[in-house]
Amino acid sequence: MKKGKEKESLWKALKNNLYLLKLSFESCPGRVIGEFFYIGYRYGSSLFYTVIFMGFIFKFIEEGTDFHTVLFFLVIAGLFWGIGGLYRAVYERTVSPIGNQKLYENLHIRMYEKATDVELECYENPKFYSQYTKAASQIKGRAFLVVHVLPELVCSVICAVCAGVRIALIDRYAIVLGIIPLVTTYFFGKKSNQVKYDLYQENIPKEREKDYIKRTIYQKDYAKEIRLTHVFSMMMEHFKKASDAVIQNTKKCGLKAGLLNFLQGSTNELLTGMGVIVYSTIRLLYFKNIKISDYMVLVSAIGYLAWCLTRTARLLSKVQDTSLYIQNVKDFLQYQPKISESQEGRMPEAGNTNLTLKDVSYTYVGQTQPVLKHINLEIGKGEKIALVGHNGAGKSTLVKLLMRLYDVTEGEIQLNGANIKKYNVQAYRRLFGTVFQDYKVLSLTVAENVLMDTVTEEDRPRIEQALRDSGVYDKVMTLPKGMDTMLTREFDEEGAELSGGEFQKIAIARVFARGSDVAVLDEPSSALDPIAEYNMYESMLRACRDKSVIFISHRLSSAVLADRIYMLENGEVVESGSHSQLMKQNGKYAQMFRFQAENYR
Ligand code: ADP
Ligand code: MG
Repeated sequence: MKKGKEKESLWKALKNNLYLLKLSFESCPGRVIGEFFYIGYRYGSSLFYTVIFMGFIFKFIEEGTDFHTVLFFLVIAGLFWGIGGLYRAVYERTVSPIGNQKLYENLHIRMYEKATDVELECYENPKFYSQYTKAASQIKGRAFLVVHVLPELVCSVICAVCAGVRIALIDRYAIVLGIIPLVTTYFFGKKSNQVKYDLYQENIPKEREKDYIKRTIYQKDYAKEIRLTHVFSMMMEHFKKASDAVIQNTKKCGLKAGLLNFLQGSTNELLTGMGVIVYSTIRLLYFKNIKISDYMVLVSAIGYLAWCLTRTARLLSKVQDTSLYIQNVKDFLQYQPKISESQEGRMPEAGNTNLTLKDVSYTYVGQTQPVLKHINLEIGKGEKIALVGHNGAGKSTLVKLLMRLYDVTEGEIQLNGANIKKYNVQAYRRLFGTVFQDYKVLSLTVAENVLMDTVTEEDRPRIEQALRDSGVYDKVMTLPKGMDTMLTREFDEEGAELSGGEFQKIAIARVFARGSDVAVLDEPSSALDPIAEYNMYESMLRACRDKSVIFISHRLSSAVLADRIYMLENGEVVESGSHSQLMKQNGKYAQMFRFQAENYR
């Protein structure tokens, strides 16, 4: 039973390794084929010189072969050596390093494409996220291993068979001596792999904690807090604790792994290394039933067979070891996104977007309570909608559902009467131009930041207009390279560092440049004062005359501008209507409006 299970896991390990080899082959076939030849040559020459060459030389001496035959044999051997050596040198210095770059580049692109395709929910699922980070950090190293290990495995098996046949031709019982190390290495290797993997698993949470601390310390975002509070010393405590835990784990597992290595090495030395010499010498000197040339071949070929088999076993345990990591990569790459950009579907009709939420509820993954409950609302073509409510009311979640970054848990969202799930995801998302509360400015040029795509000459007027509409054009023109100036100094010393408000305007320009049917502004204005916010929304609405606009704010002074206001509280729409209707209604909105107006005065 147990044996069956082991076999199955070895089989599964081989399949996983082959999966990554196939990916690597698709990414860079030359690298994989080149490695096969490279290892083939190394093994071929070692087989030739240890098992065949020496035997022939002694045979020539014993039989007194004529000089021309010996010379011919030596020239062939020399040629084989010379050509192989040349290939080896070229391969190691050019084919292999260039192939590696191509291999990693293509593999990483595959990972990134997948990472951008999976739904946003995956990033909030700690299990998935940790699988992704593991896969991303492992794929390069593992691909290199697989590209090397599998060809070597094939070669070592072939060479072992050849050596075995050669030994059997002299003395088939002697093969047993060469097989012993296979058994011991497989047995000990498996155990020490488990020890290593356990150590890796135990260290992951600690390493992640350390990484987090490292990141916070060198990232600009946290620099102010770190200087103004005692948080640094507290974090250092955590860092030290995590490092100590890693040291403790390593101590614990290191002793176990060392002992296993020692046992494996000494068993092989004793049984095979000494065994073969004692056995062959007894045959040569005591029974006198073996020729000198066969004695030479037997001693070197058994050693070689043992080496090949040990190597095979090591490689197999590497295959198993690697398989555990490849599983992460495989699970990640084979994950079928629930909302995939590559999904086919209807194309939405441009310039005509009527959105309806019908009884929509949503619960975040891993949560028990819904954050949105039975929401019904409509956003007509060209309508200006304000979503208002306190922090945590569910406004951001609502717009993320609208853009299909998540799928609703209950109810449905319709575009022109049809469920949004029926539309082509990419085309559907293109209907929206969005600035989020936590918008990010990238280390790219101003123009690229606005367009969020490759900028061509034709795009320039559109970008310029977008910058004008968001009110930051004049500022951009004062920068050394205008809209081609890099933002942030991450990669360019002459990069521009703008103020929070200016970065915000650049983010808002994205909505204008995108020219989509629906503009969504999720409190990008939170850093502005109420008057600046009001002005910004006013110019925004003017520039978006013919578009639908959804703007979110927990400040009601701007909501006045909207055609219709939806007020959210604890995930429910509690009031809706125009500003004057809601004031007349004299409910929660009116109360909150008066309260805020009082405060700002
Ligand atoms: P608002 O934008 O109105 O401030 P949000 O939509 O951001 O509110 O959040 C609504 C509720 O959902 C809050 O209670 C918040 O804690 C919770 N929430 C937001 N994002 C997540 C998430 N990714 N996972 C779990 N809960 C979340
Ligand atoms: Mg929000």
